[in-house]
Amino acid sequence: MASTLPALPQSRHLAQPIPGPRSRELQAQRNGEVTSAFGTTLPVFIDRAEGGILQDVDGNRIIDFASGIAVTSVGATNAFVQARVAAQLERFTHTCFMVTEYEGFTEVCRWLNAHTPGSFDKRSALFSTGAEAVENAIKIARAATGRPNVLVFDEAYHGRSLLTMAMTAKENPYKLGFGPFPEQIVRAPNAAPLRWPGGAANAAAEALAEVEGILADHGPESFAAIVIEPIQGEGGFLVPAEGFLAGLRSIADAHGIVFVIDEIQAGMGRTGTLFASEHEGVEADLIVTAKAIGGGLPLSAVTGRAELMNAVHPGGLGGTYAGNPLACAAALGVFEAFEDGSLLDAARVIESVVRAHLEPLLDSVPVVAEVRGRGAMMAIEFADPVTLEPRADVTKAVVAACHAAGVLVLSCGTYGNVIRLLPPLVIGTELLEDGLRVLAEAIVRQSAEASALRDVATA
Ligand SMILES: *Cc1c(COP(=O)(O)O)cnc(C)c1O
Repeated sequence: MASTLPALPQSRHLAQPIPGPRSRELQAQRNGEVTSAFGTTLPVFIDRAEGGILQDVDGNRIIDFASGIAVTSVGATNAFVQARVAAQLERFTHTCFMVTEYEGFTEVCRWLNAHTPGSFDKRSALFSTGAEAVENAIKIARAATGRPNVLVFDEAYHGRSLLTMAMTAKENPYKLGFGPFPEQIVRAPNAAPLRWPGGAANAAAEALAEVEGILADHGPESFAAIVIEPIQGEGGFLVPAEGFLAGLRSIADAHGIVFVIDEIQAGMGRTGTLFASEHEGVEADLIVTAKAIGGGLPLSAVTGRAELMNAVHPGGLGGTYAGNPLACAAALGVFEAFEDGSLLDAARVIESVVRAHLEPLLDSVPVVAEVRGRGAMMAIEFADPVTLEPRADVTKAVVAACHAAGVLVLSCGTYGNVIRLLPPLVIGTELLEDGLRVLAEAIVRQSAEASALRDVATA
């Protein structure tokens, strides 16, 4: 499908203050119609998106360091995705795969079975949202093992449905007032190096010992699944200490527990490999994917060992929209976009450019505690240099300064003191560098101002 629109210039441009008058008008309408329970990172309304740019209804061109939360990795107007979706749109939009079938569903499963880590015999199941796929992974693990318990980790995020809320760690905003939650969810510490009490070097070994202790307390034979993100997303882009994932894999094996890796945010090329667990050479029994695999259309999947995936009784899994034909077509376009490897290269280049701009701040700005991540999944954490007390105030001020300058960044972390960068993999280097310069300047200025304010308050 050839677009009839002119190309969107790949440069930052402020036509109006952000948010501009048209966005403010639309926001007022939104407030009159839409529940206030949906938060908004930046209250601008988008007219078009392409490459690394979001263009709003006031003509502002904003640098996109969010990708709609790690979804539009191949770009919001990827030609492969557009062509496949347009072709599917002409033929039919929906049949429900549980009623009558279509080939695209099988094709997506075939690609996932072939490309996810592990050379064993696999099957896949498709769904619509990430939370739905995580829930189905738990259903599969319980059906296959006949066991109830699920082990999850501090700082984990697995979704907003009732079961995945229970699996998610952070109370506010995700869980506040929404209980009671499903039981049988057990939480273990996460081997996050920066804050590990025994020091970064001991994080993996000590966290694994704690996991063994927790399993022993409940009886390891009561656990159906261990579920972990290979790099935690909402929890703060925490890269686990080296050896932690492999150690969990061994623990799962020793006790016959299904090892589930939630690659919803870190997967599909984001970290410079197709799946983030490849960095540690760890193979999941079940791998959960969503976000970027659908290229902007809602699609999620559980892929894993055939004997587990086929352990559920026929008819036990499904969903009206599960693996919708348009979403499957979009995913096949995403897979095509990744075929020549250039997007994985791009993710690695993004990491080196981000590090070159942000790592010097580790020395020059005291509240910059850590620059971490992999590929195009990078973050910077703000904390007191001595006590590591989280500095959400600095984070908020930096985010606001970036937004005002036309750079969309997101915060994350249990304490709201981390800025995460999730640019589309197709962002140009010049645009990336422009956005990073804005971010670095905001960090230098806002951290000085926030610290001065603090000194006045404590004087
Ligand atoms: C976003 C996310 C989910 C939930 O996906 P939804 O599509 O929002 O339901 C689950 N796990 C991780 C790691 C995520 O980042």
